[in-house]
Amino acid sequence: MKQKITVSVIVPVFNEESNLKVLTREIHRYLYPTSHEIIFVDDGSSDNSFNVLKNIRAKDINIKVLKLSRNFGQQAAILAGLSKSEGKAAIVMDADFQDPPQYLKDFVAKWQEGYNIVLGKRRKRKDTIFKKITAYIFYRTLNLIVKPRIEPDCGDFFLIDQKIVRQLSKVKTKHFFIRGYLSQIGFKKITVPIKREARKNGKSGYSLKKMLKLATDAVVNFSSFPVKIFYFFSLAVILAAAYFFYLAMALKQNNYYIFSFVALLSSIQFLGFAVLGEYIIRIYRDIRNSGHYLVDEEIGFDEKE
Ligand code: UDP
Ligand code: MG
Repeated sequence: MKQKITVSVIVPVFNEESNLKVLTREIHRYLYPTSHEIIFVDDGSSDNSFNVLKNIRAKDINIKVLKLSRNFGQQAAILAGLSKSEGKAAIVMDADFQDPPQYLKDFVAKWQEGYNIVLGKRRKRKDTIFKKITAYIFYRTLNLIVKPRIEPDCGDFFLIDQKIVRQLSKVKTKHFFIRGYLSQIGFKKITVPIKREARKNGKSGYSLKKMLKLATDAVVNFSSFPVKIFYFFSLAVILAAAYFFYLAMALKQNNYYIFSFVALLSSIQFLGFAVLGEYIIRIYRDIRNSGHYLVDEEIGFDEKE
């Protein structure tokens, strides 16, 4: 009989050939004796990562390897891994030791206490100054426009219960930001303080372009601010129109009537953008299909023997 897997560990891999062997050993070490599988998702690596993974798998049946056809990005790689996971809970972590494996035990312990989402929250991070500054600005700006707020300083190092894994697999969008989703879905959630280490080997696979894409995906998925701002533009310009109209009358200058008319027209246009934007947001959210609500537990419904 197939043994039931308690925890699936999902690791997105992009050019990580020199980290994979040691990482596998460390994950086994810290998860023992909890039954687990490790799913490596090769996200179009151009180095030897895939062959290294095949070799590891040849000696270790608890390893699974999924190779994507090209580089789709970390978020897509994580979703691909989650869709294949069999554990009662899934842990997502980076391959470069920045998410230290020694915390895996703490994540599992919190889950066993009854938490459905356990987020690793960085107390300290060993990273480049550029990364530290961009991450700081990213979280703070995002939380000005996203409600409910996304837990700052939590990366993609987390544990989620199987029922959340199932929900995630239903979401349909190519531009997803998993952290944003986790912050919005409710369930019992806790953070575990972690120390984010420096990358062990290799170099960051996150180019500036990829970082910008992630930030755009986060905003577009979880904020309607870029559309709502047009209501304010429309209001500001209509006030300007009223002011010019007042000046035209008070100063008896026909020029100001023209200004007022032009301002009125652009106010209508801005309002038009905002209203169109509302429809587009609704269409997008419906297509994305993240559900009207999510169910935590069902008791007494259709319980078949
Ligand atoms: N990664 C990926 N696809 C990418 C970029 C990165 O799967 O296009 C993986 C990478 O191998 C690592 C994790 O995502 O396991 C985090 O990436 P990285 O360490 O390069 O990002 P940083 O820590 O510098 O933000
Ligand atoms: Mg990293």
